[in-house]
Amino acid sequence: MIDFLDLKSINETCRDELVDACARVIDSGWYVTGNELSRFEAEFANYCGSKHCIGVANGLDALTLTLRAWKELGKLREGDEVIVPANTYIASILAITENKLTPVLVEPDEASFNLCPHKTAAAITPKTRAILPVHLYGRLADMPALIGLADRHNLLVLEDSAQAHGASTNGQKAGNWGHASGFSFYPGKNLGALGDAGAITTSDDELAQTLRALRNYGSHEKYKNIYQGVNSRLDEIQAAMLSVKLKYLDEHTARRRQIADLYLNGINNPAIGLPQPGSEGRHVWHLFVVRCKQRAALQKHLTGCGVQTLIHYPVPPHKQQAYTQWGTQSYPLTEQIHEEVLSLPMGPLMRPEDIAVVVDACNSYSVDG
Ligand SMILES: *Cc1c(COP(=O)(O)O)cnc(C)c1O
Repeated sequence: MIDFLDLKSINETCRDELVDACARVIDSGWYVTGNELSRFEAEFANYCGSKHCIGVANGLDALTLTLRAWKELGKLREGDEVIVPANTYIASILAITENKLTPVLVEPDEASFNLCPHKTAAAITPKTRAILPVHLYGRLADMPALIGLADRHNLLVLEDSAQAHGASTNGQKAGNWGHASGFSFYPGKNLGALGDAGAITTSDDELAQTLRALRNYGSHEKYKNIYQGVNSRLDEIQAAMLSVKLKYLDEHTARRRQIADLYLNGINNPAIGLPQPGSEGRHVWHLFVVRCKQRAALQKHLTGCGVQTLIHYPVPPHKQQAYTQWGTQSYPLTEQIHEEVLSLPMGPLMRPEDIAVVVDACNSYSVDG
């Protein structure tokens, strides 16, 4: 079976370094908010090109706490509208509703799966205060257009970069376009910890300072609490793991791009719609997502050929039980995408022969079985 993503093997390629880093933390006697975290924060800010990086417990908290910080700073108020793509992973939307802000779901641009600047412009109302573009599957949203739109309407921009570490447009990376950006280092992400972790990047000093307090009980100084904060810290072990893995991120991304090129050049089955790399930017291929009208049949065929696939995502947020209040709303393009998408195996350790098996399996699929 060709695994969808062989995480164990990926971590084994730098096992010695991971073990050394782990031992260093154990021996330091200091396990939360110490040198490992400061070091990783500096490295990741530098990688993204932003002034600050604030480590937090996971990607959802990165998004939730940024919106919360803007509330604390008086830039957002309960009930304000935040524009977000309807076809995102539910975390982007949970971050909005957790803060009692109102998500305004907007259909994506079909070619990129990302927020469409025109549909976004049409969704702006006097209550709109922020846009939350998601760089879905590793492709940067149309940030030049979205930033231009946000500037004209005086809106905050929070990027959801959980799937897009290192993706760029005109040399400017995810995490360095909006006023802030949320990252996840969930193990399966392009930069993955060995547990949960996340971070915010921003070049706004005031926001960075507020986030550092919010993640730590609302406190800058021990026992002095200025906000009703939370405990959402990135611990020393995970920070140390991430410093090791960050060194390999660009190499892994380059390999993902090679694999994507081989898929794009090799798969020529008219029943399978291929993703578009986008000419304007540098896709990092967190996921290689194809579309097929008979998705279940294609998935079954691929499984039979020894190719593991997954669906990102089977049910759109507005159809989830968690949001029954939106059950009657209709986002036809989003719903169609959720019925047709299928993610092929993608990971930096795939061998040429694995890729050939996936390509052949896709090309041997026929609608009539
Ligand atoms: C993974 C992911 C998140 C959430 O990250 P966690 O670390 O799992 O909390 C948010 N948004 C998107 C688009 C994601 O893919």
